[in-house]
Amino acid sequence: MGQVRTIGRTTLLLVFLIGAGSFGVASTFGRAHSDAGARLTANFHRERHAALVLESIPPQSPPTVHITVLGTTDLHGHIEPLDYFTNTPAQWGLAKIATIVKRVRAEQPNVVLLDGGDTIQGTPLAYYFARTDTDKPNPMILAMNALGYDAAAVGNHEFNFGLDLLWKVKREARFPILAANVKQKYANPPQRFEPYIVKEIAGVRVAIVGFVTPAIPHSEMPANYADYEFEPIVDVARRVIPEVRKRADIVVVVSHSGLPSDPPWPDELPGENAMLELAQQVPGIDVILFGHTHGEVSERTINGVLLTQPRLWGRSLARVDLDVSRDTENHWRIAAKHSTVIPVTAEVPADPEIIRLAAPYELATQKYLDTTIATSAREMRGTNSRFEDEPLVDLLHAVQRTVGHAEVSMATMLFTDARIPAGRVTIRQIDSLYIYENYLYTVAMKGARLRAALEHSASLYQSWPTPSGQQPRLPDFNVDSASGVGYTIDLRQPTGHRVMNLRYKGKPLNDSQTLRVAINNYRYSGGGGYDFAGLPIVYRSTEEIRDLIIEYLTRTAVVPTSANKNWHIEPQEAVEALERAAMKQEADAAFFEPKKRSGHLPFELPVALRVMNGVWFPSLQ
Ligand SMILES: [Zn+2]
Ligand SMILES: [Zn+2]
Repeated sequence: MGQVRTIGRTTLLLVFLIGAGSFGVASTFGRAHSDAGARLTANFHRERHAALVLESIPPQSPPTVHITVLGTTDLHGHIEPLDYFTNTPAQWGLAKIATIVKRVRAEQPNVVLLDGGDTIQGTPLAYYFARTDTDKPNPMILAMNALGYDAAAVGNHEFNFGLDLLWKVKREARFPILAANVKQKYANPPQRFEPYIVKEIAGVRVAIVGFVTPAIPHSEMPANYADYEFEPIVDVARRVIPEVRKRADIVVVVSHSGLPSDPPWPDELPGENAMLELAQQVPGIDVILFGHTHGEVSERTINGVLLTQPRLWGRSLARVDLDVSRDTENHWRIAAKHSTVIPVTAEVPADPEIIRLAAPYELATQKYLDTTIATSAREMRGTNSRFEDEPLVDLLHAVQRTVGHAEVSMATMLFTDARIPAGRVTIRQIDSLYIYENYLYTVAMKGARLRAALEHSASLYQSWPTPSGQQPRLPDFNVDSASGVGYTIDLRQPTGHRVMNLRYKGKPLNDSQTLRVAINNYRYSGGGGYDFAGLPIVYRSTEEIRDLIIEYLTRTAVVPTSANKNWHIEPQEAVEALERAAMKQEADAAFFEPKKRSGHLPFELPVALRVMNGVWFPSLQ
C-alpha cells in the first residue's frame, strides 16, 4: 500500500512500482482507501516485486477517499437479541448490530459510526439501570463505547429519567452527544451539548452536526428539561451549517427528528420532524441520518441531500458510502454517495464482546423481571376480557385514572391469553400483560365525544343474532372499555345506537359536560379509528403505561381480583356466543404456541456468570 501525507500544501506520495511499469496510483495508508489502491495491493502480491518512490501529487491527479457512515437510531435500550416479555429470541439489538459494524470495518477502514438518539430508554434493562440501579455504568453507553461510536444525537427519551441521569450518561460516553438546537438558559451550565464535531478521516474533514426534535416540552415533565430550551431546527441550521461548512469538507447531520409523516401524526407538532424542511431550505448538508419517527428509509435524496433512517431497536443498520475526491482547486468534494439499510436477521450472530459486557446487566434485569411485586388471591385470565368487565382491565383503568388524574379511563381489553397466576406475581408477568409501547394521555372531552367513542368501540362487535353465514368472533385489540362511567352495550341495536344508559356518578351523562378522560397516545393519534384528534391534552406520561402499572402495583402490592362490572353486553345469548368464541381462540392459541411465555432464557449466558453468586459489572474504561 502507498502512503499519502499532507505536509503544508505539498502532498507526498509513496508509490509502489510493479514490474517494469510505474503505477501512479495510490491510496492513503491505514485509514484511507481507494479502489485503485485495492487493485494495486492485489498486483503487488501477485508480482512480488515492488519498490518505493517518493514523489509529489500534482493537483490534477486527485486520489479518492472512500468513507462509510454507519448509523443506528432509536435503539431504545436493546442490546440482547431478546424479547423480554416473552423471553424469546428476537432479531434486533446492539449485539447483532456490532457484528455487522465489525464486518464493515474489516473491509473498509474509514468508518464513522453514529447514533440518532432515543438510546437509554425502552426495555426492562434500560429501565432497571435508569431507575433502580444507577451506580453502574449505563449498559447502553458501555456497549456503545466498546463499539467505538463517533457521535450520537440526543433523543427526546434521553430526558425521560431526569437530568441527573442524562448527565451521568453523557459523562460516561466516550463519544460526544450532540444537539445544536438545545440552548441553556443560564450562563455557567454544569453540562451542555456540543452542537457539532469535526473529525479528520484520511485527510478529509468530516463535520457531524446533531439536532433533536424541539417538541420535547410537549411530551416531557418540565423538571426533566429545566433550564434548557429547544430551538427550531431549521432556524439553528441556517446559523450553524454555514459555520460548519467553512471548517469541514463533508457535513453529516445526525438528527433525532425525522421526515414529517404523510398524513401527519394527529399530535405531530410543527417542526417536530424537520428533516424535509432542513434538506430543502438549508444548503451545505451532504448526508442526514435521522430517527425519532421509527420508520425505515433506505435512501432518499431531497435537494441533493442524501437521507437515510435505520429501523428502531437495532433491527437494521444504515450504511452510507461516500466517494470523496479532490476537485481542480484541491478541495475535497463528494464524487458519489449512496445509502442502504442492512437488516438484522437470524443469520447475523450476536457479537460475543458485546454479549460479555452486557451479561451481568442482563442477569440483573432477568432477576428484576422475576421480582415479586404483588400477590394475587386467585389465577386470572384474559379469556373473557374482550366481552365482559374483568379485574385485569379494571387494574389498567385504575392505573390510568390515578396517574392521569382522570375521571374516566378508556383502555383496550388485553389479550385473551393474558395470565396472572395465583400467589406471587412478578414484574415480567405484569409487563407481559401490556405489550403496547404506549404512553398515557389525559384529554379534556365533552360527554358527547365520550359517547361517540363508546359507540365506535361497540360497533366493533358483530351484531346479534350473528349474521347468517358468519361465525361468532371476538373483536380485536381496538375495542376499548371505559371506567368511571356506567353503560350497557346492546348488540341487537344498529351500530351508532348500541350504548345504553350511559351514566356518570349515577346520573345520565350530559353531552356538554367536560370530563378528564385517560386514553393513550395511540388512540389519540387515531389508532383503532377513534376520533380524539384535537382534544386538549391535559396530561402526558413520560413513562410507558406498562411501567406505570408496575409502579402502581409495587405501591399497592395486591392484584385486584374482582371487577366493578360498570358495563355489560346484552343480550345474554350474545355474551355466551362470545364466550364460546373466546374458548375456541384460547384452545387454538395453546395448540399453535405451546411454548410462548415459557420463562426460559433463550440464549446461553456465559457459564462463569451463571455460577457466580454476585453479579460482576464491567467498569467504563
Ligand atoms: Zn424513539
Ligand atoms: Zn424520539
